Amino acid sequence: MEFQSLFAKLIADYRINARFLPWRTSRDPYQIWVSEVILQQTKVLQGQDYFMTFLRYFPDVFSLADAPEDQVLKVWEGLGYYSRAINMHHSAKFIVEQLKGRFPDDFDGIRKLKGVGDYTAAAISSIAFDLPHAAVDGNVKRVASRLFGIREPIDKPAGVKQITELLNEIIQYYSPGEFNQAIMELGALICTPKNPDCRRCPMQEHCFAFANNLQKSLPVVTPKKKPVNMHIEFLFLESKGKTWLHKRDKNGIWKGLFEFPAKIVNHLSETPPVWMMEFLDNSDVSKVLGHRDYVHKLTHRTIFARFWHLSGKPSNIVKQNQTYTELKTTEISGFPVHRLMLKYLGDNRMI
Ligand code: SF4
Repeated sequence: MEFQSLFAKLIADYRINARFLPWRTSRDPYQIWVSEVILQQTKVLQGQDYFMTFLRYFPDVFSLADAPEDQVLKVWEGLGYYSRAINMHHSAKFIVEQLKGRFPDDFDGIRKLKGVGDYTAAAISSIAFDLPHAAVDGNVKRVASRLFGIREPIDKPAGVKQITELLNEIIQYYSPGEFNQAIMELGALICTPKNPDCRRCPMQEHCFAFANNLQKSLPVVTPKKKPVNMHIEFLFLESKGKTWLHKRDKNGIWKGLFEFPAKIVNHLSETPPVWMMEFLDNSDVSKVLGHRDYVHKLTHRTIFARFWHLSGKPSNIVKQNQTYTELKTTEISGFPVHRLMLKYLGDNRMI
């Protein structure tokens, strides 16, 4: 079958049955950029709420560029992968300062924005500017692999290249934004990783995997490495209604977010660990008010965390070190914190 008619049924189906998603009503590149960055690591349902909130705070590239970084992180709080927010903030400033606020309108210009990869650049340029670039995300790779019988692992550059080149050829025959979104929708709703619903699939008659009963063995993916275990102890130190937070630097996980003083350790201590003692003034008797444990799973790490809650006078290390911020415990909800902190603060009824 010719490329110009291969996807006709899928596109027709998409026009009728596409889910209503708030970003689909817009062709504003800024809004599409926001939605695509949020959806990189986030499920659609959760992403919708964040998208609406993000646009309420930062309705355009100027308001995002003008905002302090802590406010951007606060709005992003709970979504994870915080470098996404930091990169967007950086790029918004670049657009305002270097491009006079004009969003780049071609693939290469969009691809140069910090944090924007091939997929996001293709999604924005096709949806906002009708440019024929195939947006190849996880859903699209899975659909293409099954549809065309591609056996290269889809998580390796050779597999991605093969799929991208093929779809870039086909997309020329369709409305680019619609083509990309129709395939993504198929992958999200019908051609799912497990148990694809081939009976309902508009591509069934053209599908290699369906014809050969290979839905379970395609796509080929390389086995994932086991996540590494990590142990972290946190110190929630309270003194006369005050506490201290530390702002993480721009490296590693939870970039730029606030947390209680913390230390990575080999094993979690059964009693308040020695390192916490240097945060306490020796002249004062400190009290242990309890501890809580959490297991927090990230893609490559499993974090075992123990939060110690102590009351006592802080030492000079805390008071004089500028990386620690003193605040009232009631003010803590105003600071952007990572998800592990959010869990603890929620369980302690502090937010
Ligand atoms: S027929 Fe089945 S395997 Fe093929 S694209 Fe459709 S849902 Fe996926």
